[in-house]
Amino acid sequence: MLGRDPIQEGPILGAPRHPRAPVAELAPTPEAPAAPAWKPAEPRARRRRWLGSAFTLALLALLGLNWSAAVTGRGTPPAALVSSLEQAVNALRGPPRIGLQIGHLDAAAMPRELAKLRTSTGATAGGLEEVQVNHAVVRALAARLRQDGFTVDVFDATVPRHYRADLVLAVHADASVDPSREGYKSAHFLPLRNGRDPLLKLDVDRAMLARSPLGDDDRNVSLDMLEYYAFNARRFRHAVARSTPALIVELGYLSNARDRAYLERPQRAAQALADGVVAYLHDVKRIPAGDPKPASEQASAPAAAP
Ligand SMILES: [Zn+2]
Repeated sequence: MLGRDPIQEGPILGAPRHPRAPVAELAPTPEAPAAPAWKPAEPRARRRRWLGSAFTLALLALLGLNWSAAVTGRGTPPAALVSSLEQAVNALRGPPRIGLQIGHLDAAAMPRELAKLRTSTGATAGGLEEVQVNHAVVRALAARLRQDGFTVDVFDATVPRHYRADLVLAVHADASVDPSREGYKSAHFLPLRNGRDPLLKLDVDRAMLARSPLGDDDRNVSLDMLEYYAFNARRFRHAVARSTPALIVELGYLSNARDRAYLERPQRAAQALADGVVAYLHDVKRIPAGDPKPASEQASAPAAAP
């Protein structure tokens, strides 16, 4: 809402109790297909068993190599072998899964435990609604990440219960009575709920600040961002599980002319966020170096052969 930081209007939004497709008509982005609603991962139990076995095997292999290295004095396990084990574990885990929250969408449908947030419908400035911006950016971002081969779940203000993925981004925009206030900021939950939250923040912040015209508005991170309800798994069932790194981003101010011009073209913010997500997945070795291939490389590869 204009005149107050959206984050201060009340802890942002939550998501639907029933999986549903986010309103495609809100902010059309032609290049981005409609984002399918989140649905529970199919054979989760089976996948967990596979993962457990894979991790155990990898651990035993590494322990064996370390023991062998200690006995024979031949040093640490070869990097290539460690890399192969990482690849095997990643293959068993399947493509990285990414959860994207459209800030404030369908706030009125939030469950009873989050009833206080049902009126948290987001900021408005100059006839532009924050939820429209959030929605357009998430749709474009989901399309880019799917192009890269990732699995993407899109949800509204209500996070699916105990949601798990490789990471979650909650997408918001800001507004202020001061038209000169501008810039991007982000926050992970405090006290720290996941050891990888700071790395996710670092990678996404770097990408946003390097690849967008937005300034750094870190000084205006609010308590409501640091205690974002959707990341508060101790208090709410409809929250991101603590095992999943999560970050809330504020993509600029609707009330600032320059930020607003940027936000009216959601593809640019989506690309910057996608770059940050890919950098993070590289850092945690969830995807191999060099993947995903740049679109130009993918397109030119087959044609390159004479
Ligand atoms: Zn918001």
